Amino acid sequence: MKKLFLIIGAPGSGKTTDASIIAGKNDNIVHYSTGDMLREEVASGSELGQTIDGFISKGALVPLNIIIDTIISAIKQAPVDNILIDGYPRSVEQMTALDELLEKEDEITLVSTIEVRVSEEVAKDRILGRAADAKPGEERSDDSVEVFYDRMKIYTDPLAEIQTFYTNKNLLTVINGERELDPIVAEMEAFVKENI
Ligand code: AMP
Repeated sequence: MKKLFLIIGAPGSGKTTDASIIAGKNDNIVHYSTGDMLREEVASGSELGQTIDGFISKGALVPLNIIIDTIISAIKQAPVDNILIDGYPRSVEQMTALDELLEKEDEITLVSTIEVRVSEEVAKDRILGRAADAKPGEERSDDSVEVFYDRMKIYTDPLAEIQTFYTNKNLLTVINGERELDPIVAEMEAFVKENI
């Protein structure tokens, strides 16, 4: 049985960093970031990558069929049973689509959706800090102040509905992301390990 943890959080919440540290420390946990998987496809230069790039560079969500294919193939190919996926769901449509898929799927259980919560202020400072610190060639096309507000709005708009949906299923776990990295990672890691 595969055990799935979804990790959501505003741009700059640190969700990808937190999850990759946890997977790096635990052989029985694997981590996939939707943003990283999509950027890899863009970097491959494929036609699909070019399509994806058109959305990412504007801060827009890639279409549902692309993101569903991306996460399903990651889950199917996961080398271990405990899977952290960060960056999904980012819309009510994505949440519903995954819920319907999981209903039909006996081999995958959604254990929890972990929300790494930060204020817009903290998110913005971190994103603009990341943009200023990026090495030449490693800049992200979407780490600019203009695109930040679009990404933040896209994150915030469906958030209440996503929170309500998972709260009603007893599947929402909120972690305070406005702390130093270590205590955030420690809390998330403890929660994941207690529930696998
Ligand atoms: P991130 O690295 O999580 O900030 O994601 C970077 C970009 O990838 C987002 O702004 C979207 O363009 C795209 N993306 C990541 N996750 C998703 C998703 N679940 N659905 C649609 N687009 C996504």
